Amino acid sequence: MKTIQLQTPGAFQEIEEAEPVRNSGKALVRVHRIGVCGTDIHAYHGRQPFFDYPRILGHELGVEVLEVDDNEAGIQVGDKCSVEPYLNDSDSAASRIGKSNCCESLEVLGVHIDGGMRPLLALPIDKLHIANDLSYDQLALIETICIGAHGIERSQLTAEETILVLGSGPIGLGAIQFALAQGSRVIVADINEQRLAFCRDVIKVHHTLKADDPDFEAQLSELCGGGLPQVVLDATGNRFSMQRTFTLTAHGGRIVFLGLLKGDISFDDPNFHRRELTLLASRNATPDTFKKVIAAVKDGSLDTKPWITHRLSLDAVPIDFENTISQPGLIKAVIEA
Ligand SMILES: [Zn+2]
Repeated sequence: MKTIQLQTPGAFQEIEEAEPVRNSGKALVRVHRIGVCGTDIHAYHGRQPFFDYPRILGHELGVEVLEVDDNEAGIQVGDKCSVEPYLNDSDSAASRIGKSNCCESLEVLGVHIDGGMRPLLALPIDKLHIANDLSYDQLALIETICIGAHGIERSQLTAEETILVLGSGPIGLGAIQFALAQGSRVIVADINEQRLAFCRDVIKVHHTLKADDPDFEAQLSELCGGGLPQVVLDATGNRFSMQRTFTLTAHGGRIVFLGLLKGDISFDDPNFHRRELTLLASRNATPDTFKKVIAAVKDGSLDTKPWITHRLSLDAVPIDFENTISQPGLIKAVIEA
């Protein structure tokens, strides 16, 4: 079968590969859609740390089940599924306490091991999340939205609280939409006015702030009735932005680091103590998050229509990938296999 492999940074190539052999516990699936993620773009540019080449990318997948044994999950031939691409060791300490998302020996499909930029895959049955009512486009978006949704779960944000989301790229967008779907008040800050306009006009966020405005903190306080948000979620991975969260969060509030910084951050401990802040990391998502996000997309409380701005076919990836990811206004590109 024809597979698209990233040979070295900047060079995808079509290769011929044997079809996967399905053993028990696994399902053979046909890949219909592959979402292009920041991780894929970093790998393409050679900026993803600890990344080995060659690699078959693709971890945001909408698939169809072609072959499967009888299983407890009730997954059958012909079912449409989203893929949870975090392959964990079920015996690990983290997995045993229900945190398969941060398992000690976690391998992410399309990042640490070969992923879905190919027609067929053999996948563990428990990594398939069935959703026959969703389109393959929607199924390929579930994982990205789950990353943001898990950040909201970590924060334990309630419908009565206000959250400030810093950064409105795809990861921030997932968090924003999930917070809105549960009825919370959402303030979005970004330095990119185009992205803020997208949040207002398309995602229907009522409150947006320019993060680099000299009056930013005063404007935020005004939106919070003179106080500050109970939850601040950083989806930038930018050191300045992450360090600033400690003074943007209300006393007794929670900070979530969804964006990842390759380096150290520092904060003023007396301020951290005075406010009795809680600092939380958020990594990947749990099987439960997949179920919740699929339910929210199904019942319409989470609208996926705004997400896909660009498309290309799997065959065209070696030629068109660079052009596609360089387009202005790119939110999410989807590859049709
Ligand atoms: Zn991704």
